[in-house]
Amino acid sequence: MHDSSNIAEKFKSGQTVFSVEFFPPKNEEGARQILRTAKRLSGLRPDYVSITYGAGGSTRERTIEYGDLLKDIFDYEVMPHLTCLGNSREEILSILSRFESAGFSNIMALRGDPPKGETCFTPHPDGFKYASELIAFIKDKHPNFGIGCAGYPEKHPEAATLDGDIENLKKKIDAGAGFIVTQMFFDNSHYFRFVEKCAAAGIDKPVIAGILPALSLKQVQNFKSMCSTEIPDELVAKLEKAATDEDARKIGLEWAEGQIMELCAANVPGVHLYILNRAESALKLSHLLRKS
Ligand SMILES: Cc1cc2nc3c(=O)[nH]c(=O)nc-3n(C[C@H](O)[C@H](O)[C@H](O)COP(=O)(O)OP(=O)(O)OC[C@H]3O[C@@H](n4cnc5c(N)ncnc54)[C@H](O)[C@@H]3O)c2cc1C
Repeated sequence: MHDSSNIAEKFKSGQTVFSVEFFPPKNEEGARQILRTAKRLSGLRPDYVSITYGAGGSTRERTIEYGDLLKDIFDYEVMPHLTCLGNSREEILSILSRFESAGFSNIMALRGDPPKGETCFTPHPDGFKYASELIAFIKDKHPNFGIGCAGYPEKHPEAATLDGDIENLKKKIDAGAGFIVTQMFFDNSHYFRFVEKCAAAGIDKPVIAGILPALSLKQVQNFKSMCSTEIPDELVAKLEKAATDEDARKIGLEWAEGQIMELCAANVPGVHLYILNRAESALKLSHLLRKS
């Protein structure tokens, strides 16, 4: 385990930083599940956990409430996400004060996706258009927060080219982001190419590999249409042959295991698991991360 509460500092130890992502629950069963999972994973001591911020700020209160619970009950280093979408500067200032009072030291700063049914992102009239503007604002008003930002090994769906998207990523780093967490990918070659291109563009911050242990063919196909993530033919063929949900989960886990082994062999700075509030994948994969 790495000690500093500023996540960017944890990468300096040279060990692979291990993190998991939660999302705030939508109902009572979801609330039981996140707490059960948090309890089951507490023995693994991830270096930090993050908790997402629902589209349009729909989960603002629950992001703070469950971030608090993860921190206070289970003693996790918690990084809440925050998006520009739907928030004025004044509202963002108030959320930042609440994050600070709650004892969070790091923020994952994002733009947010356009609401369902809309194709364009419309900024709040007194808000921010790009994540880089939000990052600059956080740095100006609360310079002590550590800040993470998103990166897209297969480019952001709205970007015309990967190189152009990386130029925009550099703006987030120049504004004060200390590390990058990637969108999920199922083919490591996208990550390795992305890291090379980032370095060539002058980005010298850690690029954390975002890994999703797939649960089913339908699930990965949904991600493909939402995030333009390539699903390798070999993974599709394997998932197509799965006779049961349990078989599919096993295939997803084995695929993620292969990805993590290769990433750790390449000494990546960190692996972030998209666990979807389920404990099984982190419990089964953590030994790979803790060995490195
Ligand atoms: C690790 C991770 C966690 C996430 N967590 C959440 C979450 O909790 N809640 C949520 O709602 N969404 C979340 N998202 C999704 C994210 O909000 C969307 O992908 C969103 O569409 C882009 O957010 P961003 O912060 O990358 O935006 P930006 O960095 O602002 O980029 C958005 C687009 O604008 C372009 N761009 C950026 N700056 C400029 C500029 N100056 N001029 C022209 N073009 C520019 C970029 O190339 C890109 O195409 C997450 C994504 C990732 C990868």
